Amino acid sequence: MVCSAQQNYTKTLKLMGSRFDITVTAKDSAMAYGHIDAAVAEILRIEKLISSWDANSQTAEINRNAGIKPVRVDAELFDLIQNAIRISKLTDGAFDISYAAMDKIWKFDGSMVAMPSEEKIVASIAKVGFQNIILNKANSSVFLKFEGMKIGFGAIGKGYAADKAKALLIKNGVSSGIINASGDMNTWGKQADGREWTVAITNPLNKHKVFAVLPITNGAVVTSGNYEKFVSFNGKRYTHIIDPRTGYPSSGIISVTVFAPKAELADALATSVFVMGKEAGLDRINQLPQVECIIIDDQGAISTSNHIEIEKL
Ligand code: ADP
Ligand code: MG
Repeated sequence: MVCSAQQNYTKTLKLMGSRFDITVTAKDSAMAYGHIDAAVAEILRIEKLISSWDANSQTAEINRNAGIKPVRVDAELFDLIQNAIRISKLTDGAFDISYAAMDKIWKFDGSMVAMPSEEKIVASIAKVGFQNIILNKANSSVFLKFEGMKIGFGAIGKGYAADKAKALLIKNGVSSGIINASGDMNTWGKQADGREWTVAITNPLNKHKVFAVLPITNGAVVTSGNYEKFVSFNGKRYTHIIDPRTGYPSSGIISVTVFAPKAELADALATSVFVMGKEAGLDRINQLPQVECIIIDDQGAISTSNHIEIEKL
């Protein structure tokens, strides 16, 4: 090792409504926590920009002006929305930040007794459609074409914030670290003892059993899936991620883990694969360079993309 005095330092806190664990390697704690505080400030800055509940955010302003007028936004938010639309195109609309306007007809807390009617399901997505997010690069404006439209960054925001925090830490000279945003992991460099950062993959059907431990050297790994949040009708299990094109919750998959150079992309794709299903999802992931995934279906079967080897533990 080049510098044996390096140590890992971690701080855990709640940001963007989620648990974040930020770990950096540094020579002493004062230095480490100084760096971590800068990363926290960066995440808070991004939250202010993209939060749709904060009435003062630019995102809230876009939503307020749906069907009324374009809103001029910071280049950063403009780019994030542009990227999100790119991912919508890449996933044939499975990923869509305008999902936020969907009527909340599905409940995953056990309170639903019957499937909503076909009419209700169809009507629930009336205001959804990334094609109706109008971007104007020349004046950095965003316009939601119809009244009632809304955008939200629930499936991409944490990953984006983790990427930005990582970039800032690298810029500030932190040689290695890991940002864990409630399971969305983003790493660079190696641990203080020279080992690689690793991620443990568990099967949600058997939570305490890790079935693979994989190294992540400089990249992100994001897992989507909440085994507790689902509803069953006629023996079919529907999970809390809803297909923005049909209004139906996705079914068949219980967990998706995506590896990619950036957490923003990994985060968005993990949600997308849920919606796309196993075959279409794997097929699309296999077409993307440097992107891999692990899917666990509701029978507990594990599928992986082409370039991933799982050593069964
Ligand atoms: P988690 O919140 O467990 O990390 P995800 O990253 O998959 O899970 O994000 C789920 C969130 O993404 C939902 O709570 C919702 O805010 C948003 N979302 C749900 N469906 C879609 C979709 N099809 N496209 C974009 N965002 C979505
Ligand atoms: Mg996601």
